Amino acid sequence: MKIANKDISAVSLVKEALEKAKKYKDYNIFISMNEEAALKEAAEIDEKIARGEKVGKLAGVPFALKDNFLSPDGQTTAGAHILEGFKSPVTATIVEKLKAEGAIVIGRTNLDAFAHGSSTENSYFGPTRNAYDFERVAGGSSGGSAVAVALDIVPFATGSDTGGSIRQPAAFNGVYGLKPTYGSTSRYGVVAMASSTDSMGFFTKTPEDMDLLMSITSGQDKKDLTTLPDFYNTSESKEVKRIGIIKDFDNESVDAEIREALKTKCEALRNKGFEIVELDMPVLKYALAVYYIIQPAEVASNLSRYDGVRYGFRSEDSKDLDSLYEKTRDEGFMPENKRRIMIGNFVLSSGFYDAYFLKAAKARTLIIKEYEDAFSKCDFILTPVSSNPAFKLGEKVNDPVAMYLEDLMSVSVNLAGVPGLSIPAGMTKAGLPIGLQLVGPRRSDKNLIEFSKELI
Ligand code: GLN
Repeated sequence: MKIANKDISAVSLVKEALEKAKKYKDYNIFISMNEEAALKEAAEIDEKIARGEKVGKLAGVPFALKDNFLSPDGQTTAGAHILEGFKSPVTATIVEKLKAEGAIVIGRTNLDAFAHGSSTENSYFGPTRNAYDFERVAGGSSGGSAVAVALDIVPFATGSDTGGSIRQPAAFNGVYGLKPTYGSTSRYGVVAMASSTDSMGFFTKTPEDMDLLMSITSGQDKKDLTTLPDFYNTSESKEVKRIGIIKDFDNESVDAEIREALKTKCEALRNKGFEIVELDMPVLKYALAVYYIIQPAEVASNLSRYDGVRYGFRSEDSKDLDSLYEKTRDEGFMPENKRRIMIGNFVLSSGFYDAYFLKAAKARTLIIKEYEDAFSKCDFILTPVSSNPAFKLGEKVNDPVAMYLEDLMSVSVNLAGVPGLSIPAGMTKAGLPIGLQLVGPRRSDKNLIEFSKELI
């Protein structure tokens, strides 16, 4: 608005964002910057405005792109050595839609390689630091995007959420993070992790900004056949009466200050006249095990395309085609990528498919049913995002199970395909942000964002 009214120029906004990015260089937020192209695009927008031409809803607004969203300018690495130097011939649909409204990419943000992780420590490009404590993790996998918004470098950034990668870093850095209903935004042009749970969303400072971004990017895309017809912009507002809380999530293993924050928010909602409903969701305790079978299985298949021939990095040290594949994959993937490829191939192998993959697929159906049942008793569910606030760098990175446990409260939302919005909910005594998660039925994204304003 300010830009269209000529109160401020797009060039000065983009310059300011680029300067802030430089100021916070030590946080390792960006893998690469897009300085030249960003300034050129901003100058074009200022010229259009000067000529009195119509500009888009995001004209001149700088933003940061998680580096697994494909776009021809610069390289797209997905945080992995094996994609280093890869120049994409295509543009992700979300990026296309944002650019069509005049938004400007200032740089590509850091992530756990191929989005495998919960701390951004699995990145080939080193870890990103937490916005509130330099010695702590940013969360992951979209750590760079969360910190870019938290430190006010950009007003919004993109993220992908397969099992919590938007919501958990949003919680660790005190910003809003939305994992929309599966299929509401297009996955086209985003490096695939687990195709049946990958959801594309955003980090913002306010629910209003989230609403604007969803109104621009939602809808069916011919290039992603799992997208749904646009329900976001046609949603009718719905009266919210009952908020559910999950009994099993209120236990000793959850940080006391996070449990307290949840109680405080529930009390505030009760005072506003909402009913708080306790939910028994016993199947959710299997969600993490189910996720870590289904997700590696899909990863093993999606990562089989990186062979040193078609994309990015190729090992120099190979004598024949077989060793080219082996060495490239050995040198190009991070240990966590390899672990998932091995687990995935194992659970899909003929001897173990029935015991693992098929059983997990059946349990997933029960999780979907459990959410449907819960939403017959309440309108939305309020839970912690994770059991703890941001942990120390190095604390969990060599303990895969401890890292997987970070996702305990987030993965069931992806398995069920429902939307989840991470909202800032105060600070711990030590000064770390606390995040809570609002979960709604499929296609309730607009109402979910609207309702989050009750929790400010
Ligand atoms: N932390 C989860 C994992 O490592 C989720 C990652 C994501 O959502 N991309 O699988």
